[in-house]
Amino acid sequence: MDEIPAFELAAHWHKGQVRKGLNAEPFVSHPLRVARLLIQFGVYDQDILDAALLHDILEDTDCPEILIQQQLSRKVLRIVKELTDDKTLLKSARKQHQVERASLLSPEATLIRLADKIDNVGSLLNDPPETWSWQRQRDYVAWANRVVKNLNAPPAELLQSYQQVQAQVWERVTGQIPL
Ligand code: ZN
Repeated sequence: MDEIPAFELAAHWHKGQVRKGLNAEPFVSHPLRVARLLIQFGVYDQDILDAALLHDILEDTDCPEILIQQQLSRKVLRIVKELTDDKTLLKSARKQHQVERASLLSPEATLIRLADKIDNVGSLLNDPPETWSWQRQRDYVAWANRVVKNLNAPPAELLQSYQQVQAQVWERVTGQIPL
């Protein structure tokens, strides 16, 4: 049997899911953008790009881990698992856990985590969730900043891109009257 490319796995398992934004775009647009962003910053490693496409698949779908190992590789599965929050924890503990674990990520997972945050924070500018108050958006950016601050030696250009996006979003969300 031919191997299934990562993007097909992502499209299949995230099918029917939508992003929280007003546009309700298909969820899979997010991992696609994360992979594209990495390519824009010169990342061409196949395992990293595959893991970028699959970085939310274990957390947000019922895709079995073994499928990633079989169709991609053990390495891709390892990276995806590094990026998967522990769903047995409560949401607040999960968020704290992600901050604390950021410094322990492998170089591959570090790249994807940073690109993930660029896209998620950027979405607050491009396609903010309708139901999120300014306060909630501020809390989200502040949390993302804490995760990024703890990353171990991320590439300077990618970090700069994050800082530009978060500064734009921060200006927008702090310049508003809280709901
Ligand atoms: Zn993500």
